[in-house]
Amino acid sequence: MMQITMPLGFLGTVYREIRQALVDMGEMFDLLGQPAEVTDKPGAKPLKVAGATLELDGVMFGYDASRPILKGVTLTVPAGQTVAIVGPSGSGKSTIGRLLFRFYDVTGGAIRIDGQDLRDVTLQSVHDAIGVVPQDTVLFNDTVFYNIAYGRPSASRAEVEAAARGAKIHDFIASLPEGYETTVGERGLKLSGGEKQRVGIARTLLKNPPILLLDEATSALDTQTERDIQDSLRAMGEGRTVITIAHRLSTIADADQIVVLEAGQIVEQGKHEALLEAGGRYAAMWARQSAEVEDEGEDAAA
Ligand code: ADP
Ligand code: MG
Repeated sequence: MMQITMPLGFLGTVYREIRQALVDMGEMFDLLGQPAEVTDKPGAKPLKVAGATLELDGVMFGYDASRPILKGVTLTVPAGQTVAIVGPSGSGKSTIGRLLFRFYDVTGGAIRIDGQDLRDVTLQSVHDAIGVVPQDTVLFNDTVFYNIAYGRPSASRAEVEAAARGAKIHDFIASLPEGYETTVGERGLKLSGGEKQRVGIARTLLKNPPILLLDEATSALDTQTERDIQDSLRAMGEGRTVITIAHRLSTIADADQIVVLEAGQIVEQGKHEALLEAGGRYAAMWARQSAEVEDEGEDAAA
């Protein structure tokens, strides 16, 4: 666990930022700890990752008992593959991410990584295995260096720079008068949405997790920036097991598997081409989004 040595006022600011971002599971854990009900069971062993196959096996979950959110979700992501989860807002996509990170325990079924039930292994080892890139990367009011090194606080200067190069943000940082010592965040240099996501990618590259969870990682960005960042995310996904939750379907068309979630259940599953041919929910969503893009194109041309 990270040691909290910052003044409490600063923590308060971070907490508010996190509350606003709502989706930044990684930071939420490290700063605020686990909800009390989720703890290591006595004698829990660290997760042993071998390739990182993910399995959701009949997963049931509700934030309160009276309202089920996930109603029996079964899904396997083979090691090194990318699965995209799409579906209407409120269908439970982010909830799957929170369960994978073991923010909560399932109320029925199981989640396994390489055959190990998440409830049987240590929380720390699960958090170490998963890198999260949320919609809005939370920046601390600290240096760029600190913000990237947060992914692995023991990292050397050379390692932080290598991660920044991988995330294509090194040149930008190097061009700042104070370089990696520049203070960013609310009380420092304000970074654009795309730059913040690159810091988030650098942080995750440094952490080097076998599993990536991308929750609407580019949905707050304009189309061109989204395209650039998507390239970096795709490169980061090479050789890792990836769960990507996406709003814009164009960003996930090349996933190994696409899952359509509706009201907490998988209603369609397959590759992009097959789902288009099937002419179901995914095809309808695709047609709707393609029409929107054409409208935007006409607006821009007008
Ligand atoms: P999606 O990511 O698909 O938009 P979510 O998984 O965030 O959907 O949410 C699924 C449902 O769970 C929604 O109805 C949402 O209101 C509810 N929900 C999400 N987070 C909480 C929470 N912390 N407490 C209670 N209900 C929640
Ligand atoms: Mg969501």
